[in-house]
Amino acid sequence: ATPTSIMVGTGKGAENGILIKGAEHLENAHKLTSIVLDKTGTITKGEPDVTDIIPLSDLAEKELLALAVRAEKKSEHPLAQAIVKFGQIRGSAVTDPDSFTAIPGYGVEAAIEGKRILVGTRKLMRENDIAIDALIPQIEGLEEQGKTVMLMSSDKEMLGLLAVADTVKEHSAKAVSELKALGLEVWMITGDNERTARTIAAQVGIEHVMFEVLPEHKAQKVESLRKEGKVVAMVGDGINDAPALAIADVGFAIGTGTDVAIEAADITLMRGDLSGIVAAIKLSKATMTNIK
Ligand code: ADP
Ligand code: MG
Repeated sequence: ATPTSIMVGTGKGAENGILIKGAEHLENAHKLTSIVLDKTGTITKGEPDVTDIIPLSDLAEKELLALAVRAEKKSEHPLAQAIVKFGQIRGSAVTDPDSFTAIPGYGVEAAIEGKRILVGTRKLMRENDIAIDALIPQIEGLEEQGKTVMLMSSDKEMLGLLAVADTVKEHSAKAVSELKALGLEVWMITGDNERTARTIAAQVGIEHVMFEVLPEHKAQKVESLRKEGKVVAMVGDGINDAPALAIADVGFAIGTGTDVAIEAADITLMRGDLSGIVAAIKLSKATMTNIK
């Protein structure tokens, strides 16, 4: 492309809330064959609400919630924030745990009043030898509604389940169908479990789902698509997404996301939703045909 056509293209992008960091990104966007969309905060709003509190021990619902709030207080994860916010509304005291450890991709561990409290995935429970088999049907029922279920234990005892639901952004489904119409293969990537991921994916028309991907493995997944010969875009908002954004042929950051994601990306979508991606690819196509 000529410097002039690139300048015009970049300017048009900026007018539409698409901030392109360099000429090569505008040139690469029309070559894309595949696009990988992060789930939480990219396809969905990333502001989950607590929907279910299910005690499984002799703790009352209120006590279970209060304990969850303490365990999650120091976590920066959106799921933790949902629990803390909900607890505050219900009048839980938000006091510090005695100790706290985040376990990325799994959950949290906290010491509270001499007990070791875990909140997180089925895998977290299994790896700590906490029996959960009898709960699977109940958990799967919630996941089929698109909810994310967190299991909670105290020492070896199962305490209960907490479920949260996140809603898809207004423009997500339309953007996915337009990306498909442009001939792109659309993927969802998430640390969440398969059922929840597939339910959300189905709501926006995505068939290809990479689930239970640990934060540090997102970049590897993008790289393995590239090794298949695909030209891959990654779209994300989180700190976890930064390595994948950097390794992708074109990295798109959601403008309402974290600074780390924006810094790692090639293009920032200031509107905060997926509609800018379609516009950016069309702009790239227009820019490249103008100069041929
Ligand atoms: P994502 O943000 O895509 O859901 P993560 O890798 O951050 O992916 O988390 C994967 C899963 O681990 C979550 O869906 C949740 O079940 C569990 N998890 C992570 N952090 C927490 C937390 N602070 N509290 C409870 N569960 C958590
Ligand atoms: Mg995200």
